[in-house]
Parts: sequence; C-alpha cells; structure tokens
Amino acid sequence: MNHAISNLQKRDLNHIWHPCSQMKDYENFPPIVIKSGKGIYLYDENGKEYIDAVSSWWVNLFGHANKQISTCLANQAFQLEHVIFANFTHEPAILLAEKLAKITPDGLTKVFFADNGSSAVEIALKMSFQYHQQKNKPNKRRFLAFTDAYHGETLGALSVGGVDLYSSIYQPLLLDTLRAQGPDCFRCPFNQNPTNCDTPCISSVEKILKKHHSEIAAVIIEPLIQAAAGMKMYPPSYLKQLRKLCTKYDVHFIADEVAVGFGRTGTMFACEQAEIMPDFMCLSKGITGGYMPLSVVLTTNEVYDAFYDDYESNKAFLHSHSYTGNPLACRIALEVLKIFKEGQYIEKIKQKSTYMKELASNIYNNHPNIGEYRQTGMVGAIELVKDKETKEPFSSEERIGYKIYQIALEKGLLLRPLGNVLYFMPPYVIETDEIEKMILTASESINEFFASYNDKGGKLI
Ligand SMILES: *Cc1c(COP(=O)(O)O)cnc(C)c1O
Repeated sequence: MNHAISNLQKRDLNHIWHPCSQMKDYENFPPIVIKSGKGIYLYDENGKEYIDAVSSWWVNLFGHANKQISTCLANQAFQLEHVIFANFTHEPAILLAEKLAKITPDGLTKVFFADNGSSAVEIALKMSFQYHQQKNKPNKRRFLAFTDAYHGETLGALSVGGVDLYSSIYQPLLLDTLRAQGPDCFRCPFNQNPTNCDTPCISSVEKILKKHHSEIAAVIIEPLIQAAAGMKMYPPSYLKQLRKLCTKYDVHFIADEVAVGFGRTGTMFACEQAEIMPDFMCLSKGITGGYMPLSVVLTTNEVYDAFYDDYESNKAFLHSHSYTGNPLACRIALEVLKIFKEGQYIEKIKQKSTYMKELASNIYNNHPNIGEYRQTGMVGAIELVKDKETKEPFSSEERIGYKIYQIALEKGLLLRPLGNVLYFMPPYVIETDEIEKMILTASESINEFFASYNDKGGKLI
C-alpha cells in the first residue's frame, strides 16, 4: 500500500481515466500494473502473484493466457480478423449462432450480435419496443425493471438499472421506467425461508403489470443473481412466476444473463433452473472466456417475424456496431463451448461449488460481522453487517469492503467488493487447494480488518 509509485503507474495516471473509479483514490493507491497471467493467477510488474477471485470483472472462465484459447485466437487472426457483418458473414458466426440456439432454452432461435453487455441490453429493449410498434400496440413503450437491478452503463441500460450509485445523476436523461421491488432474500420483508419460499414478493410485479400492462413492452431481470447490487440471490421459483405473469399480460420477458450465463450459477444458463424460456436472452462476459468483447441477443421466431417484410415496409431492425460479429471473438466463443463440453465443466462446476460452499459456510457463518455467506454455483458472497441480529449495514462512507480489499491485495488475493459485499467468482479452472487458499486468505483479511477496527472502537483504520 505504501510502495513507491512505479514509472508505469505514474505514466498511467498522466493520461488514463479508469472505469468505475474515483481517480483521486489512485493518489494513495495507484492502479496495479499487471504484466502477465496464468490460470487463476495474475502477476504484477514486480512479480507479485494475485489470485483473480473476481475473474477479471466476471469474464474469465478457463484461466488467463489459456493455451488452447490463445492458439485458437492466433489461428483465426491469421485467417480473418474482421469483416463487415451487413451483407457479409463468416463461418465462426454461423457455427456460433447454431450452437447458441441449440444450448439455450428451446424457442430462442435467432441470434443478433453486438460487442458488450450494455449494447445487448439496448438491443433487447429496442427490439421489444419496435416489435410492439409493428404489431400495432403503440402504447407499449415502457419497461418494467427491478430495484437493485444492473444492466450496464449506456443510457438505455442505465434507465432500467436500479443501483442509484450509477444512475442517480443521470436521471433527467433516462427513460421513464416502471420499477418493481426486487427479491431481497437476505432481508426478506415476508420472513420467508429462501430454500422453501412461495415468492410472495412477486406481488410487487403483479400489481404494476395489472395496472400498466397496456403501456409495458417488456420486463427485464437478472436471473437468479442481482450481481452488481451485491450478489443478491433469489430462487428459480420467482422466475417461473414472473414468466407466467409476462405471458398473462402480453409483456416480453428479457433475461439479462450477461453475468450469470455460461455456467456461473451451476447450469449453463440460469433460466434453465427455472425451466423458462425468455423472449430475449442477453449474453456477454463469459461468452469468450474473458478474451474478446462479444455479446449476443437471442430471441424467438415470433419476434423475428414482426420485422420480416418487404424493404419498403420500413420494419427492419437497423441497429449495428462496427465490430458486430467479430470473427476473432466468435471463433473464441466456439472454443469456449468446446472446452465446456470436452472438459465436462458443468459437472466440474457442481463439484467445485459444493466444496466451496461447505468450506466457506463453515468459516464465515459464525463471524459477528458477517450477516450471511450465500452461494449459487460458482458465485459466493459475504455480506458484511454492523449488527448480525438486526442486519444493520455499515454506512457506505466507511468503505469497509474497500479497506478489506486493500488488505487482501497485500496478501495476494484480488477480491474487489461491491459495497459491503465481498464475493468469490473465480475462473472454473480453480483447484480445490486454491479454493481453500482463496477462502482462508479472505477470512484472514476480514479478521485483520475487524481486529483493528474494533480496537479503535469501531473507527476506520
Ligand atoms: C456487466 C453487466 C452488463 C453490462 O455489460 P458490459 O459489457 O459491461 O457493458 C449488463 N448486465 C449485467 C447483468 C451485467 O452484469
């Protein structure tokens, strides 16, 4: 923490404006210069090793500098790096679309390409809106979203997001979104047990749909985990209920699986656990195993057909991005699916996540400042609380998570927090002994922080 600033760090700060950062924080804590990666590890310019417990913003699946994927990337680069995707196509995109249509819920048959998660969300919103316009339902022009939802940072995506930290200043620019109370199992207002819950909280959505369905084009939700809000988890039965309501009220169901897709929740896609088919599914992050920006929106023939007409009808979907359907990214995404299958990773994720959950629950659940340890698939979250009984949170000004993050970094663990929530979302190649090391190092960091915090009578260190 008190290391002298390196030459590269100094030059970084001369010109680079980092994402999701108060740049002034870097005065005391400059960005760490990463030189290389291998498996679950990152290595900085001084050779210090870090376990990447957050999969580099939830994108990495099979480790850094993965030999198989890197070779595949190089081969594709020597064959075709990019081509315009309107009026042209290429085999990697065709194969990928075929595979995605096959492994996602039945009925999702059409694939639209983009290059990041926010764009995928924009596309789903625009398609849903335009669908209703072209189906002579011009009043269906609003979206229903959830408190604590996160769907990305572009204006349309922010409009359906519910994390004030990211969106409040932009309110005057945003769409007029309807907002339902999201499921909150940790602080459940209905005192339900999440393992055996009949989701009374769905009534918040139902009320809005009943009253406003004629104005609503689509509902958008993060299936099973509201990730950016602090890995808030809820049961599949909620999604089942929501699907029924959407069908009943003629409202599209947009499943934003940007974070949870590709095995994170223990199944290839989170929607599988609820046995539902959304009208739109947004995928990105893990799609290329953390190698290249790529996203897709999958939808149904029903939606597709509403845009399919003679040119003069002006019904086409004219959205495009320069790097749409990039061949390097598509080729890698195919390799990622191959690794899933050949390495039997869905099975491996089940085993590894069971081990992780047992160990972490034992270590964390009795800690006086941990409200709960929760886990879905390969996503584990530690909810820090001021008071275990009342679940009173620490105030955000205390930046408890951020302080623990700094301690953990010193110990070689990258554990970037979401407010009062520390989480594990490691690459799937993590081994049992590494899971143990990750969990124990996080525990030591938490204990070290609270020992000092409590010594000072609950003051910041
Ligand atoms: C990260 C994320 C996005 C945005 O994806 P970007 O590639 O960062 O634009 C959208 N939705 C969810 C659920 C996400 O976690």
